[in-house]
Amino acid sequence: MINEHMMDLGSRRSTIRELFEYGNSRAAIVGRENVFDFSIGNPNVPAPEAVRQAIYAEAAGDPVALHGYTSAQGAADVRGALADSLNKRFGTDYTGDSLYLTAGAAAALSCAFKAIVCEGDEIVVFAPYFPEYKMFIESGAGAKCVIVPPSIADFQIDFGALEQRLNEHTKAVVVNSPNNPSGAVYSEQTIKRLADMLRGKEKEYGHPIYLISDEPYREIVYDGVQVPFVPHFYDDTIICYSYSKSLSLPGERIGYVLVPPAAADSKELYAAVCGAGRALGYVCAPSMFQRVAARCADQTSDIAVYQTNRDLLFNGLTSMGYHCVKPDGAFYLFPQTLEADDRAFSERAKKYDLLVVPGADFGAPGHMRISYCVKTETIERALPLFERLAKEYR
Ligand code: PLP
Repeated sequence: MINEHMMDLGSRRSTIRELFEYGNSRAAIVGRENVFDFSIGNPNVPAPEAVRQAIYAEAAGDPVALHGYTSAQGAADVRGALADSLNKRFGTDYTGDSLYLTAGAAAALSCAFKAIVCEGDEIVVFAPYFPEYKMFIESGAGAKCVIVPPSIADFQIDFGALEQRLNEHTKAVVVNSPNNPSGAVYSEQTIKRLADMLRGKEKEYGHPIYLISDEPYREIVYDGVQVPFVPHFYDDTIICYSYSKSLSLPGERIGYVLVPPAAADSKELYAAVCGAGRALGYVCAPSMFQRVAARCADQTSDIAVYQTNRDLLFNGLTSMGYHCVKPDGAFYLFPQTLEADDRAFSERAKKYDLLVVPGADFGAPGHMRISYCVKTETIERALPLFERLAKEYR
């Protein structure tokens, strides 16, 4: 007998994957350049030159050490270098002992959830959200995933709706800023208000409520917008970070969990993160890319093209009548669809070979996600098609 739930998960493709496969089949018919695939968030900006140099330098070293297992939590010198980089940027005094290296943010989140969840616990997530959260929380960690509906005027937090969903079972709240799919960056005011509310609830319920900050897009922001560093505002924070987006290395699977010493039960929590990684069979993060990350921790891919794409797409679509909150970060636009049924809209868009992801997949129906980590020329050629699509609704 096979585990039916896992079989179901493995047999059903996500809408994003469905669209991606559909795009491949259309490309075989109409040509790759005539398919406007805005479905997937694969960075199209190359990794910085420093990454190539780091790979060369590491490859020239001792191959046995380079490709061997590291400590389960990551090589000590790598963790030290990453802590130094954080300290330089955020004025903290972390050591490598607070860092646990992972195969990307997905593994970091899975370890963080599994580390804290006990029977009956609930984890709160804000819509619109990264769809895999539900998978990691429910199927991975066995907790209840509680969704706070979106605040569609600005994609900040609806505090009234949040407060209604907090209770004595709440073990953690997840924030993702810059956000996938809305591109919203939580302001300092939002983070402070959230921290105040959670501190109050911790007192009321008599146990810690962790704030899990999922920040793979931390460095991808525009117009000088600042991303507040969450541990400055709330002690019980766990950071899940990834180099997938900031260094354009999604296939290399490298990231980390940061358990700040100020977090409640930080020593036990860190041990539980290590235990979760062990239970999940992660062994250690990819050894070569641990070392590359250490060498390139202060670097970011050149995000100028993302800003060009955001401006082109945002200005183009809003001038056609699409309603959209201007994103401050990440590389997604999340406009309202021109009919309430976002799946029907996404289907209709396929007529023009425009592939956009229905917002319902992110817990925000009536919207669509457009990934603009594509060539600028793709956007230039897609805009007239978005205009023809909009005309159908006038
Ligand atoms: N969290 C968010 C919000 C994401 O958008 C992604 C990937 O797109 C992840 C986590 C997972 O990232 P990684 O590739 O580092 O596992």
